[in-house]
Amino acid sequence: MPKKNELFNNIEKNRDEFISLGDSLFDCPELGFKEFKTAEIIRAWTESLGIKYESEIGVTGIKATIGAGNNYHIAVVSDIDGLPSKNQNSFIHSCGHSIQTTVSLAVMKTLAETKILDGSDVKVSFIFTPAEEFIDFEYRDNLISEGKVLFRSGKQHMIAKGIFDDIDCVISAHANGDKGTLFDINSTLAGFTSKKAVFLGRAAHSGAAPHLGLNALHGAVQCENAIAFIKDQFSSNEGVKINPVITEPGGNVNTIPDRTVLESYIRANDIDTLFETDQKVDCCVEHCAKAIGLKYEIENTVGYMPLKQSKQINKMIKENMLLLCDEEDIVENVVSGASGDVGDLGYLLPTVQFGFSGIEGRFHSDEFVIANKDNCYINTTKIICGTISDLIACKSIRPSNPNFFKDKEFYLKNWLKMK
Ligand SMILES: [Zn+2]
Ligand SMILES: [Zn+2]
Repeated sequence: MPKKNELFNNIEKNRDEFISLGDSLFDCPELGFKEFKTAEIIRAWTESLGIKYESEIGVTGIKATIGAGNNYHIAVVSDIDGLPSKNQNSFIHSCGHSIQTTVSLAVMKTLAETKILDGSDVKVSFIFTPAEEFIDFEYRDNLISEGKVLFRSGKQHMIAKGIFDDIDCVISAHANGDKGTLFDINSTLAGFTSKKAVFLGRAAHSGAAPHLGLNALHGAVQCENAIAFIKDQFSSNEGVKINPVITEPGGNVNTIPDRTVLESYIRANDIDTLFETDQKVDCCVEHCAKAIGLKYEIENTVGYMPLKQSKQINKMIKENMLLLCDEEDIVENVVSGASGDVGDLGYLLPTVQFGFSGIEGRFHSDEFVIANKDNCYINTTKIICGTISDLIACKSIRPSNPNFFKDKEFYLKNWLKMK
Protein backbone atom coordinates (compact mmCIF):
# COMPACT_ATOMS: atom_id res chain seq x y z
CA MET A 1 0.00 0.00 0.00
CA PRO A 2 1.39 3.46 -0.88
CA LYS A 3 2.40 5.64 2.06
CA LYS A 4 0.58 8.87 2.82
CA ASN A 5 3.37 11.04 1.43
CA GLU A 6 3.14 9.11 -1.84
CA LEU A 7 -0.59 9.93 -1.97
CA PHE A 8 0.14 13.58 -1.26
CA ASN A 9 2.94 13.70 -3.87
CA ASN A 10 0.55 12.24 -6.41
CA ILE A 11 -1.97 14.98 -5.60
CA GLU A 12 0.76 17.63 -6.01
CA LYS A 13 1.70 16.12 -9.39
CA ASN A 14 -1.87 16.67 -10.62
CA ARG A 15 -2.37 20.04 -8.90
CA ASP A 16 -2.74 22.11 -12.10
CA GLU A 17 -5.19 19.66 -13.61
CA PHE A 18 -7.35 19.63 -10.45
CA ILE A 19 -7.43 23.42 -10.29
CA SER A 20 -8.39 23.76 -13.94
CA LEU A 21 -11.11 21.10 -13.44
CA GLY A 22 -12.34 23.22 -10.51
CA ASP A 23 -12.43 26.29 -12.77
CA SER A 24 -14.46 24.41 -15.41
CA LEU A 25 -16.96 23.15 -12.84
CA PHE A 26 -17.26 26.60 -11.22
CA ASP A 27 -18.10 27.97 -14.68
CA CYS A 28 -20.87 25.39 -15.04
CA PRO A 29 -23.51 26.29 -12.43
CA GLU A 30 -26.86 24.51 -12.87
CA LEU A 31 -29.87 24.23 -10.60
CA GLY A 32 -30.88 21.00 -8.85
CA PHE A 33 -31.94 18.06 -11.06
CA LYS A 34 -30.77 20.12 -14.07
CA GLU A 35 -27.02 19.48 -13.62
CA PHE A 36 -26.71 17.94 -17.10
CA LYS A 37 -23.40 19.54 -18.18
CA THR A 38 -21.90 18.91 -14.74
CA ALA A 39 -22.91 15.24 -14.99
CA GLU A 40 -21.24 15.10 -18.41
CA ILE A 41 -17.96 16.41 -16.96
CA ILE A 42 -18.16 13.85 -14.10
CA ARG A 43 -18.87 11.00 -16.49
CA ALA A 44 -16.05 11.95 -18.89
CA TRP A 45 -13.53 12.14 -16.00
CA THR A 46 -14.71 8.82 -14.54
CA GLU A 47 -14.57 7.09 -17.93
CA SER A 48 -11.07 8.41 -18.60
CA LEU A 49 -9.95 6.59 -15.44
CA GLY A 50 -11.71 3.39 -16.52
CA ILE A 51 -14.02 3.44 -13.50
CA LYS A 52 -17.53 1.97 -13.68
CA TYR A 53 -20.50 4.13 -12.75
CA GLU A 54 -24.28 4.31 -12.63
CA SER A 55 -25.76 7.58 -13.88
CA GLU A 56 -29.12 9.35 -14.21
CA ILE A 57 -30.02 8.40 -10.64
CA GLY A 58 -32.70 10.96 -9.83
CA VAL A 59 -32.19 12.60 -13.26
CA THR A 60 -28.55 13.71 -12.78
CA GLY A 61 -27.10 11.74 -9.85
CA ILE A 62 -24.05 9.50 -10.34
CA LYS A 63 -22.45 6.69 -8.31
CA ALA A 64 -18.97 5.57 -9.39
CA THR A 65 -17.23 2.72 -7.55
CA ILE A 66 -13.55 1.87 -7.35
CA GLY A 67 -11.99 -1.17 -5.68
CA ALA A 68 -13.14 -4.73 -5.21
CA GLY A 69 -13.02 -5.00 -1.41
CA ASN A 70 -16.06 -6.51 0.22
CA ASN A 71 -15.54 -5.70 3.89
CA TYR A 72 -15.91 -1.95 4.10
CA HIS A 73 -17.55 0.50 1.70
CA ILE A 74 -16.76 4.22 1.98
CA ALA A 75 -18.88 6.83 0.20
CA VAL A 76 -17.34 10.17 -0.76
CA VAL A 77 -20.39 12.36 -1.25
CA SER A 78 -20.55 15.69 -3.06
CA ASP A 79 -23.31 18.14 -3.91
CA ILE A 80 -23.31 19.22 -7.54
CA ASP A 81 -25.98 21.95 -7.83
CA GLY A 82 -25.66 25.72 -8.13
CA LEU A 83 -27.93 28.66 -7.26
CA PRO A 84 -29.68 31.46 -9.12
CA SER A 85 -27.65 34.63 -9.64
CA LYS A 86 -29.17 38.08 -9.23
CA ASN A 87 -29.11 38.46 -13.02
CA GLN A 88 -32.25 36.89 -14.37
CA ASN A 89 -31.92 33.43 -15.87
CA SER A 90 -28.31 33.07 -14.86
CA PHE A 91 -26.75 30.92 -12.19
CA ILE A 92 -23.69 30.78 -9.96
CA HIS A 93 -21.89 28.23 -7.76
CA SER A 94 -22.27 30.43 -4.68
CA CYS A 95 -22.37 27.59 -2.13
CA GLY A 96 -19.12 25.99 -3.28
CA HIS A 97 -20.66 22.76 -4.56
CA SER A 98 -18.39 22.85 -7.64
CA ILE A 99 -15.44 22.57 -5.20
CA GLN A 100 -16.95 19.47 -3.60
CA THR A 101 -17.39 17.88 -7.03
CA THR A 102 -13.81 18.76 -8.02
CA VAL A 103 -12.41 17.32 -4.79
CA SER A 104 -14.35 14.06 -5.27
CA LEU A 105 -12.97 13.69 -8.79
CA ALA A 106 -9.46 14.54 -7.57
CA VAL A 107 -9.73 11.90 -4.81
CA MET A 108 -11.01 9.42 -7.42
CA LYS A 109 -7.99 10.02 -9.67
CA THR A 110 -5.56 9.79 -6.74
CA LEU A 111 -6.99 6.44 -5.59
CA ALA A 112 -6.90 5.13 -9.16
CA GLU A 113 -3.34 6.27 -9.94
CA THR A 114 -1.79 5.18 -6.65
CA LYS A 115 -3.70 1.86 -6.73
CA ILE A 116 -4.19 2.19 -3.00
CA LEU A 117 -7.25 -0.07 -3.05
CA ASP A 118 -5.49 -2.94 -4.82
CA GLY A 119 -5.52 -6.00 -2.58
CA SER A 120 -7.45 -4.22 0.18
CA ASP A 121 -10.84 -5.24 1.61
CA VAL A 122 -12.23 -1.71 1.08
CA LYS A 123 -14.07 -0.14 -1.83
CA VAL A 124 -14.95 3.52 -2.34
CA SER A 125 -17.98 4.94 -4.10
CA PHE A 126 -18.16 8.53 -5.26
CA ILE A 127 -21.76 9.64 -4.99
CA PHE A 128 -22.62 12.87 -6.78
CA THR A 129 -25.93 14.07 -5.35
CA PRO A 130 -28.14 16.59 -7.19
CA ALA A 131 -30.46 19.22 -5.80
CA GLU A 132 -29.15 19.99 -2.30
CA GLU A 133 -30.31 23.61 -2.28
CA PHE A 134 -33.96 23.65 -1.14
CA ILE A 135 -35.33 25.81 -3.99
CA ASP A 136 -37.09 25.68 -7.38
CA PHE A 137 -40.06 23.73 -6.00
CA GLU A 138 -42.36 24.01 -9.02
CA TYR A 139 -39.85 22.25 -11.28
CA ARG A 140 -39.05 19.61 -8.65
CA ASP A 141 -42.69 18.95 -7.81
CA ASN A 142 -43.35 18.40 -11.52
CA LEU A 143 -40.52 15.85 -11.60
CA ILE A 144 -42.16 14.16 -8.60
CA SER A 145 -45.57 14.04 -10.29
CA GLU A 146 -43.94 12.65 -13.46
CA GLY A 147 -42.35 9.93 -11.31
CA LYS A 148 -38.78 11.02 -12.20
CA VAL A 149 -37.78 11.71 -8.60
CA LEU A 150 -39.36 10.83 -5.26
CA PHE A 151 -38.41 13.94 -3.25
CA ARG A 152 -37.21 17.51 -3.70
CA SER A 153 -33.72 16.61 -2.44
CA GLY A 154 -31.25 14.50 -4.39
CA LYS A 155 -29.96 12.66 -1.31
CA GLN A 156 -33.48 11.85 -0.10
CA HIS A 157 -34.30 10.42 -3.52
CA MET A 158 -31.08 8.40 -3.58
CA ILE A 159 -31.58 7.08 -0.04
CA ALA A 160 -35.13 5.98 -0.87
CA LYS A 161 -33.87 4.31 -4.07
CA GLY A 162 -31.32 2.25 -2.09
CA ILE A 163 -28.17 3.96 -3.42
CA PHE A 164 -26.74 4.09 0.13
CA ASP A 165 -27.91 0.60 1.17
CA ASP A 166 -24.46 -0.96 0.64
CA ILE A 167 -22.48 1.94 2.17
CA ASP A 168 -20.77 1.80 5.59
CA CYS A 169 -19.73 5.44 6.09
CA VAL A 170 -19.93 8.83 4.42
CA ILE A 171 -17.14 11.40 3.99
CA SER A 172 -17.95 14.85 2.68
CA ALA A 173 -16.61 18.40 2.87
CA HIS A 174 -18.28 21.78 2.41
CA ALA A 175 -16.84 25.26 1.94
CA ASN A 176 -17.20 27.56 4.94
CA GLY A 177 -17.06 31.34 5.26
CA ASP A 178 -14.38 31.41 7.97
CA LYS A 179 -11.52 33.86 7.63
CA GLY A 180 -9.01 33.16 10.43
CA THR A 181 -8.85 29.36 10.11
CA LEU A 182 -8.38 26.77 7.36
CA PHE A 183 -10.84 24.08 8.43
CA ASP A 184 -13.84 23.39 10.64
CA ILE A 185 -14.66 20.04 12.14
CA ASN A 186 -17.72 18.54 13.86
CA SER A 187 -19.94 21.55 13.11
CA THR A 188 -23.70 21.13 13.46
CA LEU A 189 -26.35 21.70 10.85
CA ALA A 190 -29.87 22.43 12.05
CA GLY A 191 -32.79 20.27 10.95
CA PHE A 192 -36.01 21.72 9.66
CA THR A 193 -39.47 20.89 8.42
CA SER A 194 -42.06 23.23 7.05
CA LYS A 195 -45.68 23.31 8.18
CA LYS A 196 -48.79 24.91 6.72
CA ALA A 197 -51.85 25.12 9.00
CA VAL A 198 -55.19 26.12 7.49
CA PHE A 199 -57.88 27.36 9.90
CA LEU A 200 -61.40 27.01 8.55
CA GLY A 201 -64.35 29.03 9.88
CA ARG A 202 -67.49 30.55 8.45
CA ALA A 203 -67.83 33.85 6.57
CA ALA A 204 -70.41 36.46 7.63
CA HIS A 205 -71.07 40.20 7.35
CA SER A 206 -68.72 41.77 9.90
CA GLY A 207 -71.13 44.63 10.68
CA ALA A 208 -74.63 43.27 10.20
CA ALA A 209 -74.22 39.76 11.62
CA PRO A 210 -70.69 38.89 12.82
CA HIS A 211 -72.18 36.44 15.32
CA LEU A 212 -73.21 34.21 12.42
CA GLY A 213 -69.57 33.81 11.38
CA LEU A 214 -66.64 31.83 12.78
CA ASN A 215 -63.44 33.87 12.53
CA ALA A 216 -60.62 31.73 11.12
CA LEU A 217 -58.06 34.51 11.70
CA HIS A 218 -58.73 34.30 15.45
CA GLY A 219 -57.63 30.66 15.37
CA ALA A 220 -54.36 31.60 13.65
CA VAL A 221 -53.66 34.49 16.05
CA GLN A 222 -54.37 32.26 19.05
CA CYS A 223 -52.04 29.65 17.57
CA GLU A 224 -49.24 32.22 17.10
CA ASN A 225 -49.46 32.99 20.81
CA ALA A 226 -49.50 29.33 21.82
CA ILE A 227 -46.41 28.68 19.65
CA ALA A 228 -44.62 31.65 21.25
CA PHE A 229 -45.31 30.11 24.68
CA ILE A 230 -44.05 26.59 23.81
CA LYS A 231 -40.67 28.05 22.76
CA ASP A 232 -40.03 28.53 26.52
CA GLN A 233 -40.21 24.75 26.96
CA PHE A 234 -36.91 24.12 25.13
CA SER A 235 -33.37 24.86 26.28
CA SER A 236 -31.30 27.18 24.10
CA ASN A 237 -28.87 24.45 22.97
CA GLU A 238 -31.78 22.52 21.41
CA GLY A 239 -31.80 25.27 18.78
CA VAL A 240 -35.60 25.40 18.46
CA LYS A 241 -36.64 28.12 16.03
CA ILE A 242 -40.26 28.52 14.96
CA ASN A 243 -41.26 31.54 12.93
CA PRO A 244 -45.01 31.41 12.18
CA VAL A 245 -46.27 33.84 9.58
CA ILE A 246 -49.88 34.39 8.53
CA THR A 247 -49.58 34.07 4.78
CA GLU A 248 -53.33 34.33 3.95
CA PRO A 249 -55.40 36.22 6.51
CA GLY A 250 -58.63 35.65 4.60
CA GLY A 251 -61.76 37.83 4.76
CA ASN A 252 -61.65 41.62 4.57
CA VAL A 253 -62.77 44.53 6.73
CA ASN A 254 -66.39 43.78 5.86
CA THR A 255 -66.26 39.99 6.02
CA ILE A 256 -65.40 37.61 8.84
CA PRO A 257 -62.50 35.48 7.47
CA ASP A 258 -63.51 31.87 6.83
CA ARG A 259 -59.99 30.66 5.88
CA THR A 260 -56.65 31.72 7.32
CA VAL A 261 -53.28 30.15 6.57
CA LEU A 262 -50.40 30.09 9.02
CA GLU A 263 -47.02 28.82 7.79
CA SER A 264 -43.77 28.16 9.59
CA TYR A 265 -40.40 26.49 9.35
CA ILE A 266 -39.60 24.44 12.44
CA ARG A 267 -35.88 24.15 13.19
CA ALA A 268 -33.96 22.22 15.86
CA ASN A 269 -30.44 20.90 16.46
CA ASP A 270 -31.38 17.25 17.03
CA ILE A 271 -33.94 14.95 15.56
CA ASP A 272 -35.83 14.09 18.78
CA THR A 273 -36.33 17.78 19.53
CA LEU A 274 -37.45 18.36 15.97
CA PHE A 275 -40.10 15.60 16.20
CA GLU A 276 -41.19 16.85 19.64
CA THR A 277 -41.49 20.46 18.43
CA ASP A 278 -43.40 19.34 15.36
CA GLN A 279 -45.94 17.49 17.53
CA LYS A 280 -46.29 20.43 19.93
CA VAL A 281 -47.00 22.80 17.06
CA ASP A 282 -49.64 20.37 15.74
CA CYS A 283 -51.23 20.42 19.22
CA CYS A 284 -51.27 24.23 19.17
CA VAL A 285 -53.04 24.21 15.81
CA GLU A 286 -55.56 21.55 16.84
CA HIS A 287 -56.50 22.99 20.22
CA CYS A 288 -56.52 26.66 19.19
CA ALA A 289 -58.87 25.74 16.35
CA LYS A 290 -61.12 23.53 18.50
CA ALA A 291 -61.27 26.08 21.34
CA ILE A 292 -63.25 28.44 19.16
CA GLY A 293 -65.11 25.92 17.03
CA LEU A 294 -62.93 26.06 13.92
CA LYS A 295 -61.85 23.21 11.71
CA TYR A 296 -58.25 22.87 10.62
CA GLU A 297 -55.95 21.12 8.16
CA ILE A 298 -52.19 20.60 8.51
CA GLU A 299 -49.85 20.10 5.57
CA ASN A 300 -46.23 19.15 6.34
CA THR A 301 -43.34 19.41 3.91
CA VAL A 302 -40.27 17.42 4.76
CA GLY A 303 -37.03 19.41 5.08
CA TYR A 304 -33.58 18.18 6.14
CA MET A 305 -32.52 16.38 9.29
CA PRO A 306 -30.05 17.94 11.76
CA LEU A 307 -26.49 16.72 11.15
CA LYS A 308 -24.94 14.37 13.69
CA GLN A 309 -21.30 13.67 12.86
CA SER A 310 -19.23 10.54 13.44
CA LYS A 311 -16.72 11.21 16.23
CA GLN A 312 -14.47 8.34 15.13
CA ILE A 313 -14.09 9.52 11.53
CA ASN A 314 -13.75 13.15 12.60
CA LYS A 315 -10.82 12.13 14.80
CA MET A 316 -9.11 10.69 11.71
CA ILE A 317 -10.04 13.74 9.63
CA LYS A 318 -8.45 16.01 12.24
CA GLU A 319 -5.25 13.96 12.36
CA ASN A 320 -4.98 14.36 8.60
CA MET A 321 -5.66 18.11 8.83
CA LEU A 322 -2.81 18.37 11.35
CA LEU A 323 -0.42 16.98 8.71
CA LEU A 324 -1.15 20.16 6.73
CA CYS A 325 -1.73 22.86 9.34
CA ASP A 326 -1.52 23.78 13.03
CA GLU A 327 -4.14 23.21 15.73
CA GLU A 328 -5.12 26.92 15.68
CA ASP A 329 -6.01 26.65 11.98
CA ILE A 330 -8.88 24.30 12.89
CA VAL A 331 -12.12 25.41 14.52
CA GLU A 332 -14.24 22.71 16.19
CA ASN A 333 -17.91 22.19 17.18
CA VAL A 334 -19.35 25.28 15.48
CA VAL A 335 -23.13 25.54 15.99
CA SER A 336 -24.55 26.53 12.63
CA GLY A 337 -28.07 27.64 11.78
CA ALA A 338 -27.64 26.35 8.22
CA SER A 339 -29.15 23.07 7.03
CA GLY A 340 -28.21 20.44 4.46
CA ASP A 341 -29.51 17.09 3.27
CA VAL A 342 -26.25 15.51 4.47
CA GLY A 343 -28.12 15.60 7.82
CA ASP A 344 -30.34 12.79 6.50
CA LEU A 345 -27.26 10.69 5.70
CA GLY A 346 -25.89 11.36 9.19
CA TYR A 347 -29.04 9.85 10.69
CA LEU A 348 -28.53 6.60 8.77
CA LEU A 349 -24.75 6.19 8.52
CA PRO A 350 -21.57 7.32 10.31
CA THR A 351 -21.06 10.59 8.46
CA VAL A 352 -18.68 13.54 8.49
CA GLN A 353 -18.83 16.84 6.75
CA PHE A 354 -15.80 18.94 7.52
CA GLY A 355 -15.46 22.52 6.33
CA PHE A 356 -12.67 24.20 4.38
CA SER A 357 -12.14 27.94 4.07
CA GLY A 358 -10.79 29.96 1.16
CA ILE A 359 -13.87 31.82 -0.01
CA GLU A 360 -14.14 35.59 -0.41
CA GLY A 361 -17.57 37.20 -0.60
CA ARG A 362 -20.87 36.13 0.89
CA PHE A 363 -22.27 32.63 0.36
CA HIS A 364 -25.43 32.44 -1.78
CA SER A 365 -24.53 35.81 -3.34
CA ASP A 366 -22.95 36.91 -6.60
CA GLU A 367 -19.87 38.06 -4.64
CA PHE A 368 -18.84 34.42 -3.95
CA VAL A 369 -15.23 33.90 -5.15
CA ILE A 370 -12.88 30.93 -4.66
CA ALA A 371 -9.82 32.82 -3.40
CA ASN A 372 -7.60 30.13 -1.82
CA LYS A 373 -7.66 27.36 -4.43
CA ASP A 374 -4.82 25.58 -2.70
CA ASN A 375 -6.85 25.05 0.46
CA CYS A 376 -10.17 24.39 -1.30
CA TYR A 377 -8.95 21.87 -3.86
CA ILE A 378 -5.54 20.52 -2.88
CA ASN A 379 -5.62 20.39 0.93
CA THR A 380 -9.19 19.09 1.00
CA THR A 381 -8.28 16.31 -1.45
CA LYS A 382 -5.29 15.37 0.74
CA ILE A 383 -7.44 15.19 3.89
CA ILE A 384 -9.99 12.88 2.27
CA CYS A 385 -7.32 10.65 0.68
CA GLY A 386 -5.43 10.51 3.99
CA THR A 387 -8.59 9.50 5.85
CA ILE A 388 -9.42 6.79 3.30
CA SER A 389 -5.88 5.49 3.67
CA ASP A 390 -6.34 5.34 7.48
CA LEU A 391 -9.62 3.45 7.08
CA ILE A 392 -7.93 0.96 4.75
CA ALA A 393 -5.00 0.47 7.13
CA CYS A 394 -6.87 0.13 10.41
CA LYS A 395 -9.67 -2.44 10.53
CA SER A 396 -10.46 -1.69 14.17
CA ILE A 397 -11.60 1.87 13.44
CA ARG A 398 -14.22 1.37 10.77
CA PRO A 399 -17.54 2.67 12.04
CA SER A 400 -20.77 1.43 10.46
CA ASN A 401 -24.43 1.29 11.44
CA PRO A 402 -25.54 -2.29 12.17
CA ASN A 403 -29.15 -1.02 12.45
CA PHE A 404 -29.11 0.72 9.08
CA PHE A 405 -32.16 -1.04 7.62
CA LYS A 406 -34.24 -0.56 10.78
CA ASP A 407 -33.27 3.12 10.90
CA LYS A 408 -33.97 3.51 7.20
CA GLU A 409 -37.46 2.02 7.64
CA PHE A 410 -38.18 4.51 10.45
CA TYR A 411 -36.74 7.35 8.35
CA LEU A 412 -38.82 6.54 5.27
CA LYS A 413 -42.01 6.16 7.30
CA ASN A 414 -41.71 8.94 9.87
CA TRP A 415 -39.48 11.52 8.21
CA LEU A 416 -40.10 11.24 4.48
CA LYS A 417 -43.64 9.95 5.18
CA MET A 418 -43.30 7.53 2.29
CA LYS A 419 -46.44 5.53 1.67
ZN1 LIG B 1 -26.16 26.53 0.02
ZN1 LIG C 1 -24.08 24.06 0.16
